[in-house]
Amino acid sequence: MLAQGVRWFDDWFAIENIAPGVHAIGEPRFHQINWNYLIEGQHTALLLDTGPGVRDISEVVRTLTKLPLIALPSHLHFDHTGNLHRFQNIALPDLPVLRACMRDDVLHATDDLFRGFLEGMVWKPVRISKWWPIGRRIDLGGRHLDLIHTPGHSPDSVSLFDRDAKILFAADFVYPGPLYAQTPGADLAAYLATTHALLSQIDDQTQIFCAHGAPDKKGKHRAPLMNSHDISDLQKTLMDIKDSGKMPKETVINARMTLLANDTAFASWRTG
Ligand SMILES: [Zn+2]
Repeated sequence: MLAQGVRWFDDWFAIENIAPGVHAIGEPRFHQINWNYLIEGQHTALLLDTGPGVRDISEVVRTLTKLPLIALPSHLHFDHTGNLHRFQNIALPDLPVLRACMRDDVLHATDDLFRGFLEGMVWKPVRISKWWPIGRRIDLGGRHLDLIHTPGHSPDSVSLFDRDAKILFAADFVYPGPLYAQTPGADLAAYLATTHALLSQIDDQTQIFCAHGAPDKKGKHRAPLMNSHDISDLQKTLMDIKDSGKMPKETVINARMTLLANDTAFASWRTG
């Protein structure tokens, strides 16, 4: 079930060392095939996304690093925040939509941001240790990650960019499979603007690791890797849809991606 170079942690989590100091932690048996990323510097480690919480990811993380750890969800959808409550040190991007979820110093995700009711999952309130402004250079010691706002799939989506290593952790912005712009808060105008923002910063040498994988032709799993051409293809698709004036529910982007959209996702184009 796992590709060469990927190993099982138990019978649920798969681990792939994708770059020096970077481990992808996959959940290939979960139907959404989530991939989370543990990124280490010299003095701090960061966990981008915590999976759906079907199993406790913190046990995996503890075996991979002894460094002080910060957990950062790429957005609040249930398949990225299921284990968030298991971490002491949680950072969030400083976005109004997330600040609005705070009550009595505790974060309560709205149904639209969490979506856990779809799979019987219940939000577990968490305290937030750090609010990072968009554009923040996160210093892990000898490694910097730029915090980039990448709305489109959801209003609270962020990506991390390691400029020196040329690795973009794009989370749910792109991945092999159907991109979800048919969920509350999805916005195609934002999706298109984000493609421009990302393409101005990356080049065709940039590795783009994503939060949802797909098995290869032999049914084997590894951390999903895309490149700048996939974002260019998405950009072209979005511009073509915009120019057509139509509102297709499903559009093929390229051999690896399709775009699913509902009428609400087109709203900002119709009024703008
Ligand atoms: Zn997701």
